[in-house]
Amino acid sequence: MSSLSPISYKEIRESIRKVCGDFPGSYWQALDRDRQYPTKFVEALTDTGFLSALIPEEYGGAGLGIEAASAILEEIHRSGCNGGACHAQMYTMGTVLKHGSEKQKAQYLPAIAKGELRLQAFGVTEPDSGTDTTRIRTFAKREKDHYIVNGQKIWISRAEHSDLMVLLVRTQARDEVPRPSLGLSVLLVDMREAIGQGLTIKPIRTMLNHASTELFFDDLKVPHENLIGLEGEGLKYILDGMNAERILIASECIGDGRFFIDRASNYAKERKVFGKILGENQGVQFPIARAHIQLSAAAEMVNKAAKMFDADEFCGSEANMAKLLASEASWFAGDACLQIHGGFGFAEEYDIERKFRETRLYQVAPISTNLILSHVATHVLDLPKSF
Ligand SMILES: Cc1cc2nc3c(=O)[nH]c(=O)nc-3n(C[C@H](O)[C@H](O)[C@H](O)COP(=O)(O)OP(=O)(O)OC[C@H]3O[C@@H](n4cnc5c(N)ncnc54)[C@H](O)[C@@H]3O)c2cc1C
Repeated sequence: MSSLSPISYKEIRESIRKVCGDFPGSYWQALDRDRQYPTKFVEALTDTGFLSALIPEEYGGAGLGIEAASAILEEIHRSGCNGGACHAQMYTMGTVLKHGSEKQKAQYLPAIAKGELRLQAFGVTEPDSGTDTTRIRTFAKREKDHYIVNGQKIWISRAEHSDLMVLLVRTQARDEVPRPSLGLSVLLVDMREAIGQGLTIKPIRTMLNHASTELFFDDLKVPHENLIGLEGEGLKYILDGMNAERILIASECIGDGRFFIDRASNYAKERKVFGKILGENQGVQFPIARAHIQLSAAAEMVNKAAKMFDADEFCGSEANMAKLLASEASWFAGDACLQIHGGFGFAEEYDIERKFRETRLYQVAPISTNLILSHVATHVLDLPKSF
């Protein structure tokens, strides 16, 4: 499919369900066991054109908004699949689209839209500065026609499966700039050239299959022409992209939550214990009903944030609140689903324990619950800053 427009969200959801139907639980279980990347799933999704939903039509994408992208990711997760392997291919290009030069956009976006170029690595977090981004230490020293990058990143997803990476570096030390948020810059690193030439990627085995890695930069050369926007202003560009990321991750949580509620309801209607259907007991019904109520409320907030984003309204607080509510609602739904399945909830073949592990991530990454609470306390409620 070259373009998704015009297409309704209902059609998008149906198409996604069809693609996901070819990737049942057994496919994900096998990958999970060996922590392998879902290459075939990502290829199938790329072929549908859905991963280029957010790229404007003039660059060969579908030119859709975050609401459409949310529908895509929610449906992937509701189907029992996981968009984590490729969701960043949808939104990481936003940094190039919004802040890149015309030359950079023309050079990269059409190839990303076609799926020929993978831009799905986003390097911000470091071992000594996760949440506290202005303290990153990876440094790019400006030389005649290139930067020399030294430092380390951690938890960088999909680095082994990406051709390009959006990398946040310091180009001026924190104590040399008037404000800590200055002196940070964004470089577009061509991973194909960088690996073995100053970039080393080390996979990290985690509790979920998320292609997590650690990156080591040792005198990596990055051409000046790969600087995105202005030197020293990079933090703004990164923060700009984070609202889209939070809304889309929240949509994945809504999808996970619906997966758990579907599974819990179906099981409660089938399983017989003490000679009667499990779901006849209100003690079993109520957690499912509560999960549905919490998830529905969270979904409303996700929709609100997505609509504001698409209308170019400032939606920082709504995106954060949507992510917090959705990640907690999906976790509650997962816990209820696991409990209702009794011992079977722990069996790999039921997919519930896998989804349970997967959805837990979203209370920590891409931003943790405490940091959202702190944002709302200080930015919405005007309470004093604590850091
Ligand atoms: C599987 C996975 C994939 C990831 N993918 C990427 C990626 O692709 N790119 C990338 O750049 N990063 C990625 N991350 C990193 C992720 O964004 C960070 O882990 C997250 O932002 C938290 O940072 P931290 O781990 O350094 O926690 P820390 O900053 O060390 O915080 C630890 C805990 O303390 C809490 N805390 C910290 N400060 C305060 C405070 N002042 N008040 C109250 N509580 C506080 C936090 O909320 C958190 O729960 C990924 C992480 C994981 C686990």
